[in-house]
Amino acid sequence: MSRFFDTKIDYLKGVGERTGNLLREELSIHTFGDLIQHYPFRHEDRSQFHKIEDIREDMPYVQVIGHIRKAEIIGAGPKKRLVAVFVDDTGELELVWFKGIQWLSGKLKPQIDYVAFGKPSRFGQKFNMAHPEMELLASIDRENGQLFPVYHTTEKLKRGRIDSRTIARLQKRLLEKAYEHIPETLPASLIERYRLMPKRDALRNIHFPESINCLEKATFRLKFEELFYVQLRLLTLKLARIDKYPGQVFGDTKLVHEFYESHLPFELTNAQKRVIKEIYADLHSGKQMNRLLQGDVGSGKTIVAFICMLIAISSGTQVALMAPTEILAEQHYRNLTPFANAIGLEIALLTGSTGKRGRRIIDEMLQMGTLPILVGTHALLEDRVQFKNLGLSVVDEQHRFGVAQRAKLWHKNAGSEYPHVLVMTATPIPRTLAMTLYGDLDVSVIDELPKGRKPIKTLHRFENKRLHVFGFLKEQIQAGRQVYIVYPLIEESEKLDLKHLEDGYESIRRAFPDVPVSCVHGRMSGSDKDYEMHLFAQGKTKIMVATTVIEVGVDVPNATVMVVENADRFGLAQLHQLRGRVGRGGEQSYCILMTDYKLSKDSKVRLETLVRTTNGFEIAETDLKLRGPGNIEGTQQSGVLDLLVADLSKDGKILQEARLSAAEILQDDPDLVSLEHAPIRQHIDKVQKNTFNWSRIS
Ligand code: ADP
Ligand code: MG
Repeated sequence: MSRFFDTKIDYLKGVGERTGNLLREELSIHTFGDLIQHYPFRHEDRSQFHKIEDIREDMPYVQVIGHIRKAEIIGAGPKKRLVAVFVDDTGELELVWFKGIQWLSGKLKPQIDYVAFGKPSRFGQKFNMAHPEMELLASIDRENGQLFPVYHTTEKLKRGRIDSRTIARLQKRLLEKAYEHIPETLPASLIERYRLMPKRDALRNIHFPESINCLEKATFRLKFEELFYVQLRLLTLKLARIDKYPGQVFGDTKLVHEFYESHLPFELTNAQKRVIKEIYADLHSGKQMNRLLQGDVGSGKTIVAFICMLIAISSGTQVALMAPTEILAEQHYRNLTPFANAIGLEIALLTGSTGKRGRRIIDEMLQMGTLPILVGTHALLEDRVQFKNLGLSVVDEQHRFGVAQRAKLWHKNAGSEYPHVLVMTATPIPRTLAMTLYGDLDVSVIDELPKGRKPIKTLHRFENKRLHVFGFLKEQIQAGRQVYIVYPLIEESEKLDLKHLEDGYESIRRAFPDVPVSCVHGRMSGSDKDYEMHLFAQGKTKIMVATTVIEVGVDVPNATVMVVENADRFGLAQLHQLRGRVGRGGEQSYCILMTDYKLSKDSKVRLETLVRTTNGFEIAETDLKLRGPGNIEGTQQSGVLDLLVADLSKDGKILQEARLSAAEILQDDPDLVSLEHAPIRQHIDKVQKNTFNWSRIS
């Protein structure tokens, strides 16, 4: 926007120093531009009027045309109030004010038509309205339509007599002055293609819509623009990275063929094959790969990663696989060792518990280039870990690692070349979020489970069915299966946590006196945890009682039942992860969600969703709707989700179009130099100089 919008807010008529300070402190509104972007969060439909006899107590806000028959101040002290009898030709209504009494009583005139606007509540047979807004019927401005903007304010603003109406008044004044200064910020081609409302009309209509239709068009236009610029930025970052980091070219696939033909224990799913092809194309392209691999729990990401590792190793480079916990790193190591050995490859494990001697050997082999595969935890990120020629880094369960750690993996090479990076996550992220959160990455999705998996049966049971549930567990254990029983982890109170778990453990020992039970919780040392996990994995214990430490990645195919205690205390994504611990073998598996009777509305939706579907993406969409984009696991630090008008849980379609448009524009004109793209360039220059901190995205 032009210089006009940099004008200090104090220079708007009606804004003095006091108001200016309040707007700055409370709403971060410093300039004209900030004010105009303080959009209303809803509009009141002021086209509807109600008759007094039609008022019902479940109505949210209503407006009534009538006049004041009588007004008096009654009571004293804090109970002192102004009560007016408001009538129309169908009945009467009491209006009550506790504040601003003197001022109002001087102002309200009898026998003149007013519009009273407020929330009705019932008092015996009569209705009343506390603190209604009063406007003279004659003064109502019909010119600007009947949709009236409602703005966020704060208590402090209200105390300073700046309420939503005051802000509306300021907006109106500003828009009158601003209209001709509002530049178009999108190129004509996009405006035409999507029939977008011009910027200046959009700004006017988002505040004071001429009609519902205009409001919708204005909102669409502003959402589109917002998402377009976020995507443009992400794609620019991606292009810059691709330019900056040429990738090592891996064309040789001999190890892949050898493994595929002689040692692959099962047929890959079509989704696995497709993803491997996508990754191979990256590894072959001469550009550095940064790819996110999304796949529901149990979809078989590990084998995909292994095959891609073989592509890198075939070309004589080394590979690293990093997992978020020791248990998971060990599990990967255990699972991959037979595969690696079968084709004669060395593989090593590096974690915090690796002894000095072991470390020395690993360090040496890495630097000599004689260790092709290294699996490990965060320990891999330490500076002393240096590869001779790292070709591919795989990061499992991405949301546990920060973006900074991801970047660290790039700098592990003695040589000048950067490794390709593959990030795997089992937390399905709705497409819209992924496009924004990982907009600078390429995304592959395994959207198919291996054949022969029986879908897990999910049940919700209340406490009164506990004996039944225990009886069922006994049957399963007698049939040779194993069972998880998980207790919630309460972060604020580790003690209470442990108490739940210990009580649970005791009651399970009593209920299953002859059954060996393992127990794992966050307070145990790593080696104790591992010991218990191993007992369970080897089938020596039949029940695993645990807090959510088993949430991610643990693979015990013989376990067929997951019981989640206090299931309402878990988030949807977490429950879905937990459920994914079973159903990994050929047997029918079950997930039993135990709760008390008392459940919040959201908890009910969560439990019903899990019972209804095992599709991780569907679950993620529901989660997004319930919690909003800012609360989805893995999104917290990102800041990319601070959007003004767009809502990633609803605006997926607009986002897709915006991203597509941004990609097309960058493809034709990567530096945005053409005349046609001048509005984009100007807008970016302006925004970069000003408030918006692009760097928070990368
Ligand atoms: P995740 O995607 O959750 O990491 P894993 O890679 O641990 O899943 O795979 C889950 C299980 O499925 C493993 O035991 C693995 O060996 C097996 N598996 C993977 N792909 C297939 C397939 N195509 N057919 C049969 N089993 C498979
Ligand atoms: Mg996994």
